[in-house]
Amino acid sequence: MLRAALISLSASKSLRSFAEKTWAGQRLSRRFVAGTEIADALQAARAMNQLGLSVSVDNLGENVTNIAEARHSAQLYHQMLDQMSAQSLGANVSLKLTHMGLDVDENAAYEITAQVVEHASRINNFVRVDMEGSAYTQRTLDFVRQLHSRPDFACHVGAVVQSYLRRSEEDIKQLIAERIRVRLCKGAYKEPPDIAFEKKADVDASYVKLTKMLLKSGVYHGIATHDENMIRATIDFARAEKVAPEEFEFQMLYGVRRDLQQKLIKDGWRCRVYIPFGTEWYPYLMRRLAERPANAIFILKNLFR
Ligand SMILES: Cc1cc2nc3c(=O)[nH]c(=O)nc-3n(C[C@H](O)[C@H](O)[C@H](O)COP(=O)(O)OP(=O)(O)OC[C@H]3O[C@@H](n4cnc5c(N)ncnc54)[C@H](O)[C@@H]3O)c2cc1C
Repeated sequence: MLRAALISLSASKSLRSFAEKTWAGQRLSRRFVAGTEIADALQAARAMNQLGLSVSVDNLGENVTNIAEARHSAQLYHQMLDQMSAQSLGANVSLKLTHMGLDVDENAAYEITAQVVEHASRINNFVRVDMEGSAYTQRTLDFVRQLHSRPDFACHVGAVVQSYLRRSEEDIKQLIAERIRVRLCKGAYKEPPDIAFEKKADVDASYVKLTKMLLKSGVYHGIATHDENMIRATIDFARAEKVAPEEFEFQMLYGVRRDLQQKLIKDGWRCRVYIPFGTEWYPYLMRRLAERPANAIFILKNLFR
């Protein structure tokens, strides 16, 4: 119930505008968000790189309401790609299509996103297109496929699949057939039971099944989870099937299970940390609290330290 309430609150415009403007809100967000400026994100990226972790940086924001905002957001991605390259960081970028204007003008959003991927391709970097709520699943996958079909973009753009969606096995089959790089996660939105598994056991069983399909595909994928059972199942399968540590990576969120991130690196596995930054952190933070409501108590305690 608490999870559902927190996910619903993530869509509240009034709470969002209040939280993003207040000092307390900004301090709360720091547990999971690197800061508000590109420099903050790059500083966090450098710190992660020094620990042996690679990163993917996300300029927070979603559902822009005009194309000027989308272009502004894309501009930050261009700056980030240049700075990552100049500073030789082990870093790529993640973006959301509704942040690139998908809800406003699909053609403009395609052109804006394609320019970011073109930039990444030019400097041999990579753009991960995050997955949003189910209203966007098909459009997002179509978008990624269209981008990936351009020969110069093929190694430089990838998709995300959520194991809680019943359709995901078919999506994974298609993405593997097209050799598109996938980040597999459980899924962070509130979805109806006719399209998404409700029970954790079913979401987890789907996650393990899809992980095995990905690991056997010969394409470099990201296994994004903090769930130790999922991680153990992945490692056991990789060892049994002789999938080398260089053939895939684990991925985790900034500020979540730092101990586990370090352990994976120490044990010889690859791990990438997803680093969000920006002023529009409210929906992101609320989804993180929904995943683990105990986080709300933890960060409230820290606020008053
Ligand atoms: C790199 C990355 C990228 C992602 N991209 C997307 C995306 O594009 N679209 C999307 O819908 N979702 C995305 N997610 C979120 C994902 O879908 C899940 O909501 C989130 O990762 C929690 O699921 P879990 O696999 O960690 O397992 P869970 O079963 O939720 O959690 C397992 C254990 O992990 C720990 N844990 C999990 N979450 C937290 C947290 N917030 N704080 C503290 N501990 C925690 C707890 O110990 C928990 O018991 C992403 C996640 C990661 C790691």
